Amino acid sequence: MRTHAQAVVIGGGVIGCSILYHLAKLGWTDVVLLERDELTSGSTWHAAANIHGLHDSTNISRIQHYTMTLYNALEEETGQSCGVFQPGSLYLAQTQEREHQLRLQAAKAKFYGMNFYEVDRAEAERLHPLVDYDGIRCIMYEPDGGNVDPSGVTNAYAIGARQRGAEIHRFTPVTATVPQPDGTWIVETPKGNIKTEWVINAAGLWGREVAQLAGITLPLLPTEHQYFVTEAIAEIVAMDRRLPSVADRDGEYYLRQEGQGLLVGAYEKDVRFWAEDGTPQGFGHELFADDLERIEDNMMRAIDRVPAVGEAGIKRVINGPMIWSPDSNVLYGPHPDLRNYFCCNGIIPGFSQSGGMGLMAAQWIINGESDYDMFAWDVARFGPWADAKFTKARVGDQYAKRFAIHFPNEERAAGRPVRTRPVYETQKAMGAVFGLNYGWEHPLWFADTPGVQDTNGFTRQNWFEPVGQEARMLRQTAGIIDISNFAKYVVQGAGAADWLNAVFANTIPKR
Ligand SMILES: Cc1cc2nc3c(=O)[nH]c(=O)nc-3n(C[C@H](O)[C@H](O)[C@H](O)COP(=O)(O)OP(=O)(O)OC[C@H]3O[C@@H](n4cnc5c(N)ncnc54)[C@H](O)[C@@H]3O)c2cc1C
Repeated sequence: MRTHAQAVVIGGGVIGCSILYHLAKLGWTDVVLLERDELTSGSTWHAAANIHGLHDSTNISRIQHYTMTLYNALEEETGQSCGVFQPGSLYLAQTQEREHQLRLQAAKAKFYGMNFYEVDRAEAERLHPLVDYDGIRCIMYEPDGGNVDPSGVTNAYAIGARQRGAEIHRFTPVTATVPQPDGTWIVETPKGNIKTEWVINAAGLWGREVAQLAGITLPLLPTEHQYFVTEAIAEIVAMDRRLPSVADRDGEYYLRQEGQGLLVGAYEKDVRFWAEDGTPQGFGHELFADDLERIEDNMMRAIDRVPAVGEAGIKRVINGPMIWSPDSNVLYGPHPDLRNYFCCNGIIPGFSQSGGMGLMAAQWIINGESDYDMFAWDVARFGPWADAKFTKARVGDQYAKRFAIHFPNEERAAGRPVRTRPVYETQKAMGAVFGLNYGWEHPLWFADTPGVQDTNGFTRQNWFEPVGQEARMLRQTAGIIDISNFAKYVVQGAGAADWLNAVFANTIPKR
């Protein structure tokens, strides 16, 4: 084992292996991955591994698009099968708002040069004849959608990294990470220590425990998550092609072909948290007991939409853990309290995002910044205020509403308030409608009466008129804006004024 490295990646799941691969690909070949067990020993091995290209966020869409195109190239490069099936994905809208969301996504896809477009019912019936399309208002098709083999993908990243000189040590748990005065780290394992420039926490289900080794607390909490696979279905056996997957978000389930049967997974309302006090060190390739009753409502909606699901027997149920952040986005990037410590924790769509996540991490570590702005993922968005109570409330809400439409400017109530300023009650009595900003409740706008909440939607909402009135009032007369939640920066030194004048539309007053 090397005793010196440019970077040590902790965790051999799909994410750790992708980061290692991309570091090596960008030229850092003196890199090591340490895995406490076999590769894939966390959430990775039992994932349904569906892949999708589109996301509500622009840069995350780009990352997912890159990931989807990478798998075939990776297979070719390494000779390791990634088990890529891309029979396409059908997205169904049952409501006007879902239709609006899908049409927005189709417009964005056009802009990114991605394939995502509307198909009519006849075409959808040809693509997936087992779906009952009654009550569906709009159908979009993503020809590149599909699924991959989780362990194939992880091993392909590992092979690609090794081929470029990276080292991987399995059955090598990291037992300590010790920061050095010069900003480097000593990573300790029972097989020896490594002095490294960077530590990368990609420990998945054990992200909290590995963070603790460096003295930091990450707001993460695992939940159970289930999917089942049916026995063979005669219509599928008789087909000479693979069926597209079905994204019926209004039905709150996902569905795709697996073997000659169907796989159905669900995000149920009755969330089950797991390992609240810490993920057991000895946990490995294990699953929880089946509990299909908990996802019965979702299952019934899947059966209504695809009756063949109800007619086939159930062959296998997977109930495994996945670990969430409070907003279900990855905790990503250099940790603000440490030097050269990169987090990549709490990933839900690991197979849709692994490639881009690895590439952006490698760019950020090697070049000091990534090609895309990763603001939405930055680990710095949470601080100690995101405590265990807040994390549990938010994770529960995220899980249960995984497939709900998340509208622009959405403010979610779960776990709030966390931090309030002395003026909070006064503002509330004045009709303030609050948003959450780094844990603080801050007024977004003022309603005529106290207790009003933001409405959500893609069209103009209840804040539109009052906010217009506030803006007019400020322009024509006077007003006070509470901006105590805004970040404050000190810009100083020779050239500070010139730089600020170049950055701002206004001119900096002379001192
Ligand atoms: C039932 C289910 C279905 C899913 N379906 C999908 C899907 O359809 N599509 C999709 O994109 N995603 C899906 N996911 C999510 C996906 O599995 C995860 O996003 C992904 O596997 C996360 O990978 P990871 O590498 O971050 O973590 P993990 O897979 O948890 O890997 C972490 C690794 O770190 C190692 N480790 C921990 N501590 C140490 C230590 N101290 N020293 C050394 N090594 C350590 C562990 O042994 C483990 O191998 C699903 C998850 C579940 C549970």
